[in-house]
Parts: sequence; C-alpha cells; structure tokens
Amino acid sequence: MQLVFLGAPGVGKGTQADKVSVQYGVVKISTGDLLREAVRNRTTLGLEAKSYMDQGKLVPDLVVIGLVRDKLADPGYAEGFILDGFPRTVPQAEALAGVLDERRVRLDRVINFQVPRTEIVKRLSGRRSCPKCQATYHVEFAPSKKGILCDRCDEALVQRSDDQPEAIETRLKVYEEQTAPLINYYAAKNMLSHLDSAGSVDSVYDNLTKVLADRKSTRLNSSHIPLSRMPSSA
Ligand code: AMP
Repeated sequence: MQLVFLGAPGVGKGTQADKVSVQYGVVKISTGDLLREAVRNRTTLGLEAKSYMDQGKLVPDLVVIGLVRDKLADPGYAEGFILDGFPRTVPQAEALAGVLDERRVRLDRVINFQVPRTEIVKRLSGRRSCPKCQATYHVEFAPSKKGILCDRCDEALVQRSDDQPEAIETRLKVYEEQTAPLINYYAAKNMLSHLDSAGSVDSVYDNLTKVLADRKSTRLNSSHIPLSRMPSSA
C-alpha cells in the first residue's frame, strides 16, 4: 500500500497516518517529523530548515525531496508507506513520481483530508507537545492529565513555534497557494479520494478505512500489481 496524505496543516493527517501505519503494517514518512528531528539534532539540514519552519514557510523543494528520496531508498519501504505532508508543491509531486518510477513502485491513492478553516485554527493553536518524548496534546480536545506537564515523562509541554498565530496564518496561506493545486494535479490522474476529517479521531479513521477498502476493491483486486513486485524486464 503506497499512499499520500494530503491536506492543510492541522487536518489530522499525522494522527491518522500513525493509526494506518500500525493497523496495515506500512511505514509513515512524515517530512515534518524528519525536519523537526534534524532541527533537534542540529544537523546542517536542520539548521537550514529551522528558519523556514519557524515562520510557517515551506522548506526548499530540493531539501525535502532529498530527504524523501533517501528514505525511499531503504528496502524496508518497498512493502508500503504513507507519505504524510509530502508532496506539498507540484515540483515535489513531480519529483516523487520520478523517484517512484526509478524504484518501480506505484502510488495507490492520494487521500485529501478536509476540515473547515476555523476548526483548523482551533486545532493548531491549542496543540502542545512534549520536547522530550514528542507526545502531542490539545489544551481542549486532548489535554494532559498533568496540566502543563507531559503525562508520560513530566516534562513541561511547549507550543510549537509554527503553531503561534502569525505562523498559522502563513502556513494556511502557503497551503492555499502552493499545496492546494495538488488536489487538481492528483484528481486529473484519477488518484484522489476526499475525506471529511472534521469529526473525532475514531470516526475519521472509520471513514478512512472504508476509503482504503474501496481502493483495494477497485484497484488492487483488478489488474493492479505493484511495480515493486513485478519481475524486472532486464
Ligand atoms: P508539518 O508537521 O507537516 O506541518 O510540517 C512542519 C513544517 O515543516 C512545515 O510548516 C514546513 O516548514 C516544513 N515541511 C514539512 N513538510 C514539508 C514539505 N513537504 N515541503 C516543504 N516544507 C515542509
């Protein structure tokens, strides 16, 4: 199963990708997580990415394309993956198509997560995370039992710099201008499914599994054989 989860920041792509990853045994590749890890480890790439991320802007295409290319080179990913937060621009989508072609892997489906803007702002502005174990909370919808401390490790929770009001506005603008065009891009390739993701985590997951089951019956049970499993013609 090779999937892309598309949608504005705060629509719940990452949460659903975690659940699908466990349930279906496929790996989640989140460019946001990879970049935050690079920032934490103070790598050259992390230092370059940090200022873009803090402002809510996109990290340059070449940087994120390189990250994803490296991840997909790992043979463990051939069995399946969910790309969460990548691609976010048309050049990234084109680069992804090239990388998958090289690896003889075919993308099964692109899921477009949809949530009203007011709800997105509420979700992002209330989000808190643990700087130590990376657990995430929401002040209203999923508060820590220990208030401002992490339930798991007692560390003081923090608000991501890109969840500050100004950065949220920038991220939503960037989404509209640079990422939303991917909806038409993938729709034109007949690869897109829309998913209303305004409900609870469990109800969205129920609907998502239905979309994925439908994908299986319409695409996989017919003639589709993932290119990764086809014998090489060479
Ligand atoms: P996320 O956690 O997916 O919301 O990503 C957090 C931030 O990482 C974004 O606001 C961007 O600055 C950066 N980022 C993540 N994925 C990408 C991507 N595919 N292209 C460019 N920047 C990205």
